[in-house]
Amino acid sequence: MGDTVAPPSCLICEQSADSATRLCENCNELIRQSRYDIHSRCVRCAVDLNSGLGDGALHCAQCIKQPPLFDHCVTATSFNPLIGKLINQLKHHGKLSATIPIVSSMVEAIKTHYAASTTRVDLVIPVPLHINRLRHRGFNQANEIAKLVCKALNLPLTFNLCERQFDNPPQQQSGLAARHKNLRGAFIVNSNMTNANLKGKTIAIIDDVVTTGATANAMTKTLLNAGASRCDIWCFSRTPRK
Ligand SMILES: [Zn+2]
Ligand SMILES: [Zn+2]
Repeated sequence: MGDTVAPPSCLICEQSADSATRLCENCNELIRQSRYDIHSRCVRCAVDLNSGLGDGALHCAQCIKQPPLFDHCVTATSFNPLIGKLINQLKHHGKLSATIPIVSSMVEAIKTHYAASTTRVDLVIPVPLHINRLRHRGFNQANEIAKLVCKALNLPLTFNLCERQFDNPPQQQSGLAARHKNLRGAFIVNSNMTNANLKGKTIAIIDDVVTTGATANAMTKTLLNAGASRCDIWCFSRTPRK
């Protein structure tokens, strides 16, 4: 009897999905529409410039006033509820297949970003979870994303170099200023690793979503202090600034 293998269901809307992308045609198109458009983002922090700033602006107001410590944030998409649902499937429902569409759009964005650049990334480090949260969730979504990104781009990945010192409250619960304060000294470089591992290195920090940029900035600060020469941030989605 010919067993028919049911097609996977779309990770976003649960309709039948394309087995290569794990999304249905409609959701694939919606992801495509929210993809990387280098011309409408702050060249530094990748926030969407469409809201408010005039044509031709390269930096957002915040990066002009106080630039972040990282050099560039490269995002695959702008955050919207569908993107949120896809990330949620990975983060809170443990659906590792969500890394497939996430990573394919990230890899495309990363390749586009560095195509015209002489920068070479030496090392990729995912944003660590605090050990309590890692135990609760069972995996770190940034690690899962980073593994596949590194495989696709043939880059070395380091998991245990950086640790999170505090189990911060979820970011929605605190304002921007409180969040920056919370994150001060939030990361430490593992004492088993010597600073020689980081000396002069250009590092890409991977996270699923960049919201305020405070986490990315705090981790950059720690890595620069430990000898790294430059950090870029690679994420699947960047939230618009309110
Ligand atoms: Zn769908
Ligand atoms: Zn900016």
